[in-house]
Amino acid sequence: MSRIAVIGAGVGGLAAAARLAAAGHRVAVHERAPSVGGKLGGYERDGFRFDTGPSLLTLPGIFADLGLGLSPAALDPVVRHVFPDGSTLDSSSDPEIFRSRIEEAFGAAAGADWARFWVRAERIWHASWRSVLRREVTPATLAALSWRVGDLAAIAPWRSLRGLGRRYLRDPRLRMLLDRYATYTGADPRRAPAALAAIPYAELAFGGWYLPGGLGGLSAALLARCQDLGVEITTSSPVAGIGTSAGRVTGIRLGSGKIVPADFVVSNADALTVYRDLLPAPTRLGALADRSLAGFVLLLGVRGRTPELAHHTVFFPRCYDAEFDAVFGSPGTGARARPAADPTIFVTRAEDPAVHPPGTEAWFVLVNAPRHGTSYGAVDWRRPGLAEAYAAHILDVLARRGLDVRDRLLFAETRTPADLEEATGAPGGTIYGTAGGLLRPGNRGPVDGLYLVGGSTHPGGGLPMVTLSAKIVADAIGRASRGIG
Ligand SMILES: Cc1cc2nc3c(=O)[nH]c(=O)nc-3n(C[C@H](O)[C@H](O)[C@H](O)COP(=O)(O)OP(=O)(O)OC[C@H]3O[C@@H](n4cnc5c(N)ncnc54)[C@H](O)[C@@H]3O)c2cc1C
Repeated sequence: MSRIAVIGAGVGGLAAAARLAAAGHRVAVHERAPSVGGKLGGYERDGFRFDTGPSLLTLPGIFADLGLGLSPAALDPVVRHVFPDGSTLDSSSDPEIFRSRIEEAFGAAAGADWARFWVRAERIWHASWRSVLRREVTPATLAALSWRVGDLAAIAPWRSLRGLGRRYLRDPRLRMLLDRYATYTGADPRRAPAALAAIPYAELAFGGWYLPGGLGGLSAALLARCQDLGVEITTSSPVAGIGTSAGRVTGIRLGSGKIVPADFVVSNADALTVYRDLLPAPTRLGALADRSLAGFVLLLGVRGRTPELAHHTVFFPRCYDAEFDAVFGSPGTGARARPAADPTIFVTRAEDPAVHPPGTEAWFVLVNAPRHGTSYGAVDWRRPGLAEAYAAHILDVLARRGLDVRDRLLFAETRTPADLEEATGAPGGTIYGTAGGLLRPGNRGPVDGLYLVGGSTHPGGGLPMVTLSAKIVADAIGRASRGIG
C-alpha cells in the first residue's frame, strides 16, 4: 500500500482518488476551494439551481466502473442548432434520424454529405479510442500509432477540423455545426486537428445525457464514493509546492507550510500551475503557451415558459470566423483578443422541476470568451462595468436572433473567466488548459512518482476525457507501485 497525495478535487482528482483507494492505497486529497468539484460547479438562488460548468454529459459508460450509481437521462435532441438564416436542425443520437432531419432542413445532398462524413468520423473515433484516449501518450505509444497506417490516414494529423469539414460538407450550416466541436477542446477550428471529429461522433453515437437535478450530481456522487472508500479530503487546503529528492517526489507542501509526505503525488491542478508554480519546470512551459478559450456565463431566472428551446440550443452567428478572431485575437491584423460582438450563444434550459420553481425556468447561457489577463490574447474581465455591459449585449443579440427574454428576467448573474480563475485556480479561467492539439501535457511528470490528471492533460477536457485521465494515472501508479512500470 502506498501513500498518495492528490492536489485538487475536480472530477479528475476525485476519480483518481476513488480508483487508487479502491486499489488499497492510502489517499489524501487537498483542495484549495471550500468545496469539491472544480469546474463542475453549482449555484443556488431563490429556489433555482444552476450548473455553472458542464451541462452535457457524454460517454456515460466511462463512469460506469466507478460505482457512482448515476441515472443519466438521454436527451433528444442532443442539441438544437439555430442558424443565422433562421433554419434549425436538431441533432439525434440515431444516425438515420439525424440524416433524415438534415435532409428535411437542408436537402438530400446535405444528408448524403453528412453520411459520408460520418463514416470518416467513425474511423477517427475508433482509431483514437484504440490507440490514444485510453493510454499514456509517450513517444513510444506515438511511434506504435504510426505503425497503423489506416489509423494515421483517418486521423490525418496534417489536416485541420475546418479542412475536414470543407472536404466532406458542402452546406455552410453543416460546416458551422462541425466547427463548433473545436470549442469542446478550447480551440479555433481553423487550427484544431481533424482528429476532433471524434467528438461529434462520441456525442451522437453514444448520446447526450443529463443528470436529473443537475450535473453537479456527478461531483456529489464522486465525493460520496471517495468517502466510502476512506479517502481523506481536506478542503480550503491549497497546495503550495511539490517536494522532490533525488529525482523522485517526496510529498506536497501545503499553503500553511505543513509537509504531507507521499510515495506518489497526483496533481489535478492545471499543468501550467504545476510547471510554473508547484514544481517549476521551464522546459515543460513552452508546450503550454497555446491557451484554450474561456467562457462568459449568464445564469438567468426566467418567468414563464419557452417552448422554442430544447434542453440545449445553440444560436450561431453570421460570421463564425469573426468570433474566433475576437476570442483568440488575430495576429494577422494585430487586433487583440476581445469579447465577440456577434458570438455563438449556447442556452441550456432543463425541463426538470428540481432546478426551478413552478412557472419559471433556469437558463444557463454560455458564450466563448477570451481568457482573463492583460496579455495580447486575453481580456481584463475585472475592468469595471465590462461584465454587466457584455451581459446586456448578449441578451440584445439573443433578442435579435428571435429569443427575447429581457422582459421575463427575475434575475441575471454573470460568471466571467476571472471568476472561474478565482473559483477553480484555472489560469486565466481557461476551460481546457491548452487549446486542443493532438498532444496535451503527458500524465507523467518530470520526476518519478508525479502524475497529472484533468482537462489540461492527456487525453483532454470534458468530463469523460478527464475521467479517462484518472484511469490512466491510477493504472500507471498501480504498475509503478508493483515495480512494473
Ligand atoms: C462553463 C463550462 C462549461 C463546460 N461544459 C462542459 C460540458 O457541457 N460537458 C463536459 O463534459 N465538460 C464541460 N466543461 C469542461 C469540464 O467542466 C472540465 O473539463 C472538467 O470539469 C475539468 O475537471 P478537472 O479534473 O480538470 O478539474 P478542475 O475542474 O479543473 O478542478 C481542479 C481542482 O484543483 C483545485 N486546485 C487547483 N490548484 C490547486 C492547488 N494549488 N492546491 C489545491 N487544489 C488546487 C481547483 O480548485 C479545482 O477544484 C465545461 C467547463 C466549463 C467551465
